[in-house]
Amino acid sequence: MNADNHFDIVVLGAGPAGAAAAKRAADLGLSVALIDRAVFPRHKLCGALISPRALAAILDVHGVSLPDEACLTSRRVAFKWQGEVLREIDAPYPLTYTTRLDLDHWLQRSAIAAGAANLEGTRVSEFREVENALVLEDGRRLTYGVLIGADGAASPVAKHLFGRAFDPDRIAFAFETEVPDACAPDALMSIDFRIVRWGYGWNFPKRATRTIGLGGIKSVDQDLKALMTAYLVQEGVDPAAVTIKGAHLPGGDYRAKPGRGNVLLAGDAAGFVDAITGEGIALAIESGALAAEAAAEAIRAGAPSKAYRAYFARVKPIQSELDRVRRIRGIVYAEAFETHFKSRLKTSDWVASSFFDVLAGRMTYAEVEKRFAQKAFASAIKGLKVWPAKRRRRA
Ligand SMILES: Cc1cc2nc3c(=O)[nH]c(=O)nc-3n(C[C@H](O)[C@H](O)[C@H](O)COP(=O)(O)OP(=O)(O)OC[C@H]3O[C@@H](n4cnc5c(N)ncnc54)[C@H](O)[C@@H]3O)c2cc1C
Repeated sequence: MNADNHFDIVVLGAGPAGAAAAKRAADLGLSVALIDRAVFPRHKLCGALISPRALAAILDVHGVSLPDEACLTSRRVAFKWQGEVLREIDAPYPLTYTTRLDLDHWLQRSAIAAGAANLEGTRVSEFREVENALVLEDGRRLTYGVLIGADGAASPVAKHLFGRAFDPDRIAFAFETEVPDACAPDALMSIDFRIVRWGYGWNFPKRATRTIGLGGIKSVDQDLKALMTAYLVQEGVDPAAVTIKGAHLPGGDYRAKPGRGNVLLAGDAAGFVDAITGEGIALAIESGALAAEAAAEAIRAGAPSKAYRAYFARVKPIQSELDRVRRIRGIVYAEAFETHFKSRLKTSDWVASSFFDVLAGRMTYAEVEKRFAQKAFASAIKGLKVWPAKRRRRA
């Protein structure tokens, strides 16, 4: 830590978003402190399916690819519906699975190696926004040009700014367990689209375990814990033999204003999670890096308080995409659409390829929406033998 405890940027939270913010800030030549209450390596509840989009973000920010020995890759995917296997397919690219214990430690080390001061194992006890300062629980006072809250779904920085992080009724809640079961490199993953309503269940292969979990919107009337027990039985696991943990997943309710002045929110703290796929790692890394770039721009212009404006302009496209996710989710999960959705999952190559293209970052939800509208239009006109104008003429 420097002598006067001042940093251009202080990042709270050293998960994927915080590590990306700290790495990018250090690469841009800024002084940066990376704080986390945990000492790494630490556990984090997560399926840890690392999408191609997330892999690309890791390469972009950290300059290297995830080490192979930390990952299991497989193309094999099953789509299920309350236990019924609808189809088994090969993904168009290998899917990468890891553990957050390994991934987050590796990302945090990358930021520290780039020059970020490592302040792990400590919490913030006080925010002093007027002084551009925060006080750690051991009494140290840090001052900053810009503060980046990358402190997860229960973000203390968001609470400080807005009174609370999220309305728990509007975001998802997930249960998950690690089943000791070493998996072969080409092991099958499955997603069950109807084990819960407004969400899904996952069974992901790992090198030493299988990660089985489900997530859904809490306010939809359903007992997620009971459904998790039933899901484990369905997947051949004795619920009494494993430890089930739960956590919020802020998909579906991003922060319209992810910050204020010289305080920015990134990753889960800003609600940047895809509410259909449940994926948050890619957006965490992308938004963390964008927050550091916006902070650098404002600091260099001598106006750290303009960091939020610079950041908002950068994350607006993420928010527009998340709006589309919400709209599409409303259709996909609507009860009236259920039978259609099930049959499309079973037979439609377009639905499967869209799922993988979105995960890869090759297709935006704007494009999904457009293709969706074209398909709906095509099927609506399919039954028409003649155009209405001709019909009128005949009459
Ligand atoms: C069950 C589950 C399964 C998921 N599966 C996937 C998946 O397969 N693929 C995917 O892409 N996404 C998945 N997600 C989403 C993904 O985990 C998150 O979107 C991602 O972790 C967000 O990264 P982050 O850096 O913003 O936050 P986090 O990873 O939550 O990091 C926040 C950090 O802040 C620290 N912190 C919090 N409070 C304080 C404090 N007071 N003081 C100091 N430090 C603090 C924490 O210790 C933590 O290290 C899943 C989420 C859940 C809950």
